[in-house]
Amino acid sequence: MNNATVGKHPCPECGGDLQWNAGKQSLACPYCGTLVPWKNSEAGLPGEVQENDLTVALQKHPVDQRGWGEAQREVQCQSCHAISVFVGNKVAQRCDFCGSPSIIDHQTERDAITPQYVLPFKISDGQVRDAIRKWYGSRWFAPNRLKHAALTDTLHGVYLPYWTFDSHVSADWTAEAGHYYYTTETYRDSNGRTQTKQVRHTRWVPASGSLQHFFDDELIPGTTGVHPVLLRQVEPFPTLTDLKAYSPEFVRGWTVERYQIDLHKASELNHQDMQQKTEALCSAQVPGDTQRNLNVDAQYQGRTFKHVLVPVWLVSYTYGSKNFQILANGYTGTLAGEYPKSWIKIFFAVLAVIMFVLILVSLGESQ
Ligand SMILES: [Zn+2]
Ligand SMILES: [Zn+2]
Repeated sequence: MNNATVGKHPCPECGGDLQWNAGKQSLACPYCGTLVPWKNSEAGLPGEVQENDLTVALQKHPVDQRGWGEAQREVQCQSCHAISVFVGNKVAQRCDFCGSPSIIDHQTERDAITPQYVLPFKISDGQVRDAIRKWYGSRWFAPNRLKHAALTDTLHGVYLPYWTFDSHVSADWTAEAGHYYYTTETYRDSNGRTQTKQVRHTRWVPASGSLQHFFDDELIPGTTGVHPVLLRQVEPFPTLTDLKAYSPEFVRGWTVERYQIDLHKASELNHQDMQQKTEALCSAQVPGDTQRNLNVDAQYQGRTFKHVLVPVWLVSYTYGSKNFQILANGYTGTLAGEYPKSWIKIFFAVLAVIMFVLILVSLGESQ
């Protein structure tokens, strides 16, 4: 893992620092416009994605590959506490995540773990602006003031930190499997006549089994800046197929969020996730019509991780005293957003429905 120390790729024409261009899907020189196609091999890494041993990283050797491979500035928002990293010369005046102007330099003893891979932006800012306008235009109860305002003025491209985990699980389970059977019983109805009915019973039988399963690229977000509900709605990010080896060119000129869910915390969350999924897989193996007392003993082996950056487009605005975000997946374009509801519009919509019903009723009476 020596990707942060790779040599820079200056513009072959003017020597300027290249930046990733989403629309062109290429490195581009912001000074003279020269396009330089990216090759994974340029980073001195093999083309295939590599994983790191989790146990080693957590217990014996904390990851010592840190930083961004280039000078950076870190600021922390005093309002939402998100930490933004700027590689190169870009500096923000406001927090990208909540719009607050109160941002201060973030001092830290250790740099963040260097991302090994990055999923570069594929959706351009033009595309996402159009999509957001369309989306917002179709929200009936959104206030007009926002519809007419250039809501996309605060559009920012942000790389979010993610941890991905792999693990093999072997699990032994025991449970009681329930098999339904029916008996015919007789009873007297309210008229005193004899009737019959089918009654369901359950025969409980002990059951056991084992499971082998491979968890591949289970994602745990390291972000605290974007609202979790929105993030879930714009996932997934194709981290199995489309990653590129990290290089500062990809993040230069963009904002990077520094993770605040660190490797240790993320690995715990991943363990809980896998435990739930393993129990569900075992539960599906229990025979019969129903089950109870499922007991799962799971061993996780060969746990590995990697740290990646994924792209999102983010609009953040304040309405009243509340912060709203609109989020778009920077790779797939999937969009999710929050917006304030205009109570005046809702009031008149409800009023219109009541009037309509009253008119119908009065028409019915007058006939
Ligand atoms: Zn140039
Ligand atoms: Zn903020």
